[in-house]
Amino acid sequence: MQQTLWFDPKKIFIGGAWQDPGNAATIAVEDPSTGEVVGEIGQASADDVDKAVAAAQLALEGDWGRTPAVERGRLLTRLAQLVKERAEELAFLESTDVGKPMKQARNDSVALARYLEFYGGAADKLHGTTIPYQEGFTVYTLREPHGVTAHIIPWNYPMQILGRSVGAALAMGNACVLKPAEDASLSSLAFAALAAEAGLPAGALNVVTGYGADVGRALSTHPGVDHVSFTGSVLTGQHIQEAAARNVVPVTLELGGKSPHIVFDDVDLEAALPTLVGACIQGAGQTCSAASRVLVQRGIYDEVRRRMAEVYAGLRVGPAAENLDLGPLVSAKQKKIVSDYIVLGKSELTVAAEGVIADRAPAAGHYVAPILFADVPPDHRLAQEEVFGPVQVLIPFDDEAEAIRIANGTDYGLVAGVWTRDGARQMRMARRLNVGQVFINNYGAGGGVELPFGGVGKSGHGREKGFEALYGFSRLKTVTAQHG
Ligand code: NAD
Repeated sequence: MQQTLWFDPKKIFIGGAWQDPGNAATIAVEDPSTGEVVGEIGQASADDVDKAVAAAQLALEGDWGRTPAVERGRLLTRLAQLVKERAEELAFLESTDVGKPMKQARNDSVALARYLEFYGGAADKLHGTTIPYQEGFTVYTLREPHGVTAHIIPWNYPMQILGRSVGAALAMGNACVLKPAEDASLSSLAFAALAAEAGLPAGALNVVTGYGADVGRALSTHPGVDHVSFTGSVLTGQHIQEAAARNVVPVTLELGGKSPHIVFDDVDLEAALPTLVGACIQGAGQTCSAASRVLVQRGIYDEVRRRMAEVYAGLRVGPAAENLDLGPLVSAKQKKIVSDYIVLGKSELTVAAEGVIADRAPAAGHYVAPILFADVPPDHRLAQEEVFGPVQVLIPFDDEAEAIRIANGTDYGLVAGVWTRDGARQMRMARRLNVGQVFINNYGAGGGVELPFGGVGKSGHGREKGFEALYGFSRLKTVTAQHG
């Protein structure tokens, strides 16, 4: 790695101190652009998870638990400032760890700072209410933190996801234990060091690294954890929810998606075109809210297909540092999964267009050319399953009713984009789509710190981001006083 780190990636962060993990084995950090090992991170043991949860509990009983809301807000705002000062270095870390082009990684640094600013400002704005009750009583509610919150995050947008999750949890006064993905832990460790520099009391934030099957599992099943926030795959989400059920604690699940753009024939195609493609290929398609399906009304279908194919033919894939349209996928494993889907698509579907991998892209990097399939039956696997790569399918439809049927016809329900100038249709569609977010004549894959975000169906439940997340990271206590 060509940059001096301000933390030791082989250590874990517990109770405000950097510690050697109980497990001596390390995990290699690979640069997906080159396939080269550029560092290593530590592997926490189950004992370390116990210590992290205990440190969080101690923080709640001590300084952190007594920190007033306004001061929690100031700490988050200070942390936002430190993130801004280190924005370029954080972007470089994320770009090296995940393989995303620097211009996209820079957006992630900006978003992390913005989450901290937003939740810093919101920390003292949420309060309880008084409730009219019987004569002689005063009843009010207190909004309180859950206690110890576990945050298990994936590798695709570590900075953004930790920002929205840990930011909101700290704002409400919880003490957090963060478990980043084994493929991309550097920015979480960097963040812990900045949190300490900002003056966050010991134990308010703890970071344990390692594999999901042991460290993630130890954390999500831990009886000392009072709330679990998980972003990742459906299968792991099911394990997490089962564990939460056994401990009877609340859980927020942000899982996958098969999100549609729905393009009506009165669309302003010129304005829509960059977003129709961009909302899928961002992050090389490894985005839970990627608009991987494009439903197009028949009257404009051929034109949309032709114009999108032109864009695809011009897409370039290469090393993150080169800032092309797409970087590599995160790992050899992810490349295999996506490549298998592309082989399936090529054998059963029509290819509308493909992008190009730059000649100079290192052979050991995990590159996949983005691909657009045309005339895809809505029940085809590529129209139903989340590929998590730069693969987009075009599906024709006749009318609004058919568009809604196809759009709602997967197991998922995360985001939908509706492209039409007809205001009444915009409102009808927004109501009938079974998703957590609808974008009308725009699409915000991953965007919008202020906008509540989450899914229905297998996309998960609970809402993060925006003010809504503060309700999720707190609980209500009702106080009933009889005074005559
Ligand atoms: P994953 O579920 O394999 O891993 C996510 C996290 O869970 C990692 O930190 C991992 O170490 C941990 N983990 C794995 N097994 C575990 C277990 N048994 N117990 C506890 N923790 C465990 O997912 P992934 O491959 O890293 O990420 C890709 C998936 O994440 C995609 O399906 C994508 O749609 C989804 N995702 C969703 C959102 C969203 O906000 N909805 C955002 C990003 C990614």
